Amino acid sequence: MEENVNNATEPKKLNFLEEIIEKDLAEGKVESIMTRFPPEPNGYLHLGHAKSICLNFGLAQKYGGKTNLRYDDTNPVKEDVEYVDSIKEDIKWLGFQWDKELYASDYFDQLYQWAEDLIKRGLAYVDDQTQEEIRAGRGTVDTPGTDSPYRNRSVEENLKLFREMRDGKYADGEKVLRAKIDMAHPNMMFRDPLLYRIKHASHHRTGDKWCIYPMYDYTHGQCDSIEHITHSICTLEFDVHRPLYDWFIQTLGIYPSHQYEFARLNLTYTLMSKRKLLELVQKEIVSGWDDPRMPTLCGVRRRGYTAEALKMFCDKIGVSKRDQLMDIQLLEWCVRQDLNARSNRYMVVQDPLKVTLTNWPAGQVEWFDCPLNPADPDGAKRKVPFTGELLIDKADFMEDAPKKFFRLKPDGEVRLKYTYIIKCNEVVKDADGNVVELKCTYDPTTRPGGSEEWRSVKGTIHWVSTEFAKELELRNYDRLFTLADMSQVPEDKDYKDFLNPDSLVMGKGWAEPALLEDKSGIAVQFERTGYYFRDKDSTPEHPIFNKTVALKDSYKPE
Ligand code: ATP
Ligand code: MG
Repeated sequence: MEENVNNATEPKKLNFLEEIIEKDLAEGKVESIMTRFPPEPNGYLHLGHAKSICLNFGLAQKYGGKTNLRYDDTNPVKEDVEYVDSIKEDIKWLGFQWDKELYASDYFDQLYQWAEDLIKRGLAYVDDQTQEEIRAGRGTVDTPGTDSPYRNRSVEENLKLFREMRDGKYADGEKVLRAKIDMAHPNMMFRDPLLYRIKHASHHRTGDKWCIYPMYDYTHGQCDSIEHITHSICTLEFDVHRPLYDWFIQTLGIYPSHQYEFARLNLTYTLMSKRKLLELVQKEIVSGWDDPRMPTLCGVRRRGYTAEALKMFCDKIGVSKRDQLMDIQLLEWCVRQDLNARSNRYMVVQDPLKVTLTNWPAGQVEWFDCPLNPADPDGAKRKVPFTGELLIDKADFMEDAPKKFFRLKPDGEVRLKYTYIIKCNEVVKDADGNVVELKCTYDPTTRPGGSEEWRSVKGTIHWVSTEFAKELELRNYDRLFTLADMSQVPEDKDYKDFLNPDSLVMGKGWAEPALLEDKSGIAVQFERTGYYFRDKDSTPEHPIFNKTVALKDSYKPE
């Protein structure tokens, strides 16, 4: 609520990327903007990627530009078409459309040609050192590196060896191609960076055409340049790579794309490294990439988070140049905001207690028209059957109730939501003293919309008709980890030591029948309890609902 007021009075401040873009457009540095989203198809997209997608596509949309989807597919060993397809699905789900679908591997021929050009200009050489020797030769931040013994090979020899590398004459790791820049450069990135490595592996697109693959630094900027990307946005850890990004573009004399860095998204109680998420899947700690506890887009989607909520979240956290840990409660708040406004309501009892209405005419069924969303009382309705035998939640009854308990108690009254006021006359117990049934009477004069004057009672509770109730399997999800800042896992521990044992609690529910007819396609609200989303494994015979988020929380965004 408060945010809306603020938005109305002061225009939203531009973020630093918008400032750069507006300046570039105003000064005529670029005519229109072109961005790209460059995932490596080695896993499913997660919430961090959503942030990058919202930024890249959002900026292009705002300034009338375009965004390419470019797969950064230079490592055939880890990549797969399964991931390629899921990435497209996720971007579309978020509501964005790319201009062109491209692959770094589309440019392998061009990148190879440029590598030969660099060799011919004396700016690249084939190195036979092992990985360890190369690493040791790099020096440290304080000490200069040492030249490789192969650094001064002739252009002819380098060309011959590089072509032999391409033609498959050498084994993995036997040789690499390096740029010849400066082994004493203060920026370690410039100490003869690797351009190509040998990898005898089949690529998901180029098959067995190549056995040498270009390195990230040698690939990314050139791909941006080929596509005339004006603003290449990446996360902060790439700022040390930027001078090298510029060096390749300048040295090759190609279109001057520019790189800008923003802070990656980190969330409390959440891990967002594809490598670790893959481990959770492989070790079957979760049921798959789309387990509703996963921070993957397919996971949160299955849980019931909406694309609108994610976009609201990305908008609220803004863009920063400083790494920060965002509170997952803000994301949950956004989910709640969106679902509260749009979701349909149904009544579901999770811990049932039988209520018998002793004065209800035997066999009678009364159908109530109840709004699907109270925000729209005149909008669509659902039909809810009311009968003489009902279920309420155990927590809504208390035998020795304190004064402030306004739900049902012996001799007390409560309104059954949308319907009558009932009074509890008798508490039936089993041999162990457990309450098993409440015998109540209903007051026929309290029918909403009836001719009698409205009578209020302090409590209103949800209920379902036993005869019509549909049994549900409920999967109550909670956070996957117990540590707020997952970057602070102590040295002697593993991130898996912080798995939340209660991240999935199985439950049951008894729902009003209309729930199973819901066609909204988004999560629904189980009145008074929480938001739930029908799982993809759900069938009409065995309905399954995933808990999306609790109904209420004390959290309020600043
Ligand atoms: P991970 O470390 O999870 O494997 P990645 O950076 O290797 O992620 P890519 O597929 O290379 O994954 O990322 C595609 C784009 O998404 C890149 O531009 C990357 O900077 C961005 N991105 C990845 N993680 C985040 C994050 N947590 N926050 C914001 N942007 C991210
Ligand atoms: Mg990556």
